[in-house]
Amino acid sequence: MSGGARCNVLPTSATANDFTTESANRRLKAVLASWSVERCREWLETEIGLGLGIEIASNKYFPLSNSSREVRDRLVAACEKAGVEFKYETSVDGVVRGSDGMGWTLRVRGSGDERARAIVLAMGGLSFPAVGTDGTGYAIARRDLGHALHEPYPALVPLTGPHPGGEPLPGVSVEVELKVAAANADGGGGKKKAQAIRKGFLFTHRGYSGPSVLDLSHHLVRPLVRANESKGGSLRDEDFDAPTSSSPRMVINWSGIKREEWQERLTAPPGRALVVSRLREALPSRLADALVAESGVDSRCKIAELKKDDRAKLLRVLTEYEIAVKGHQGYRKAEVTGGGVALDELDTASMASLKAPGIYMCGEVCDVFGRIGGFNFLWAWCSGRLAGMSAAKAISSADDE
Ligand SMILES: Cc1cc2nc3c(=O)[nH]c(=O)nc-3n(C[C@H](O)[C@H](O)[C@H](O)COP(=O)(O)OP(=O)(O)OC[C@H]3O[C@@H](n4cnc5c(N)ncnc54)[C@H](O)[C@@H]3O)c2cc1C
Repeated sequence: MSGGARCNVLPTSATANDFTTESANRRLKAVLASWSVERCREWLETEIGLGLGIEIASNKYFPLSNSSREVRDRLVAACEKAGVEFKYETSVDGVVRGSDGMGWTLRVRGSGDERARAIVLAMGGLSFPAVGTDGTGYAIARRDLGHALHEPYPALVPLTGPHPGGEPLPGVSVEVELKVAAANADGGGGKKKAQAIRKGFLFTHRGYSGPSVLDLSHHLVRPLVRANESKGGSLRDEDFDAPTSSSPRMVINWSGIKREEWQERLTAPPGRALVVSRLREALPSRLADALVAESGVDSRCKIAELKKDDRAKLLRVLTEYEIAVKGHQGYRKAEVTGGGVALDELDTASMASLKAPGIYMCGEVCDVFGRIGGFNFLWAWCSGRLAGMSAAKAISSADDE
């Protein structure tokens, strides 16, 4: 189901700025530096046998077949060729240090314990529990291995809330400029925290999605989830309580056209053109109609008839519209989980646990996620490669001794 069943396996380039972590940034950079996007692409193409192409519009790598199924099948085949044994329908509930102080025991639900000399914890986060990622990786890291976690929260998650103009606009998509601003004491617009420029915004049945919203959702969701937990709430899978006056705000310029330019367009040439028609030149019709309704301007108003106050209201709605976020869609719809095992407790040269010798970690269980665009797989490939090679090396050096 990755990448809308097409699987966006890689971005074309990446820096640490494409990722979010609450751990030291240099640790994230160390892992990313271990394998470049280019080497990773070569590995997928030559060793895994996956033909890749760049989607020019988005600058992302997809399989030429546009099939995430092919990605899965080729990875499984490469593993089997290398001697990997898969155990399906098998759930690991816990990890216990071997009684002789050597190695580890895996507690496997419904069957016996299994001994392991090294373990790579690659159990993902909490997102999309339907595919088997239920947060057990975090529980094992914290409870069994003594690791500190940055408390997980849904990230890259659609938000809920009403649409402008009062009528639902599901399916309408537009390229916007979206900024997240801290709230001022008076609840108004404060300092800009983050922004997305010319990125997709999609109205959904319940609210808002698209890369612009998903990429910045954590700025709203993380503080609310954490505040909810500190009040004794549990990790929510449903809407969170409405953001408070101190919550960051999401402010949108629907077309990317600056206020001054709109001022011109809504002033001259006055003529008989309708205001709504001028908006439709730059925006999808349904959205243009909704924004005129939202501003309170009559839909039959001509540019020549537009009063100064009404023009000001329209300019605000067009270039500084604050979406009224009411909640988020939880782990069921979050593409990734933010937070996780602190990178500061891992040796980022090997992804070895600094708390539990013989344990390695990678992927989403760690306190890193990337923005939309193949960055999460890049993190999984880079950290997974380091963890796997280091675990294998540790076993072979022990054999040599
Ligand atoms: C719908 C969707 C679409 C996405 N599309 C993209 C995309 O196009 N590009 C991109 O870069 N990223 C995408 N992502 C994000 C990406 O899939 C993840 O970041 C990445 O798969 C994380 O890799 P991982 O190995 O850490 O965890 P996962 O891929 O989640 O793998 C964890 C595995 O561990 C297994 N597991 C969990 N708990 C247990 C247990 N107790 N016992 C045994 N096994 C267990 C799970 O079944 C699963 O197989 C998408 C995510 C979602 C949800």
